[in-house]
Amino acid sequence: MTWTELELADAPPQIHRLLRDADGTPVPWGIRIAGQQRADWNQIDQTSFDRAVAGRRCWTCGERLHRGSYSFVLSIRAALERTSLWPPSHASCASYIARHPLARIGPLALSPGAVLMVLQCREFSGVSDRKAKRMVFQPGTANDVYWIKDGRAATRAEASAEFDAADEDAYPGDSGLEEKARYEERRRILKRWLPE
Ligand SMILES: [Zn+2]
Repeated sequence: MTWTELELADAPPQIHRLLRDADGTPVPWGIRIAGQQRADWNQIDQTSFDRAVAGRRCWTCGERLHRGSYSFVLSIRAALERTSLWPPSHASCASYIARHPLARIGPLALSPGAVLMVLQCREFSGVSDRKAKRMVFQPGTANDVYWIKDGRAATRAEASAEFDAADEDAYPGDSGLEEKARYEERRRILKRWLPE
């Protein structure tokens, strides 16, 4: 079976409308298309990025987001740091890319085998990141969170183990009390969403 047949069975309609790469992989809207309709998986498309920011479009499919419903696919560390490098997606698009290898390719890469968090929120903000020299995104308070590993729901043990490891790396030990308090509050809230 090709990638297309295997992986597209549960794709939402907007994923079916995306351009396909040579092997049938749907190319997320945020990925740069080089010549001849081939995806350049290592580059983002700057026009898509700008339009996603200015027009509140889905980073995965490019269609308009529904007001008050924004979904981020994040590593646990990114969630603890409350920073997404990429704009949000539709709930159905985020769920799809978290479960399929699209989220593990090129500049959107999240490590293979890692536990991913899909975080849904009602608002988010874009902030300019001086180090990255571009805009990054801060999800608002989560109204739903679920955890994915290797295309399926992560177990509590898997999510907890990775949560603790990410927490150790991300904890802002050298920062002021206020920043530590904000971090600890975020950790407390995210921990409540660990799988049953
Ligand atoms: Zn979408």
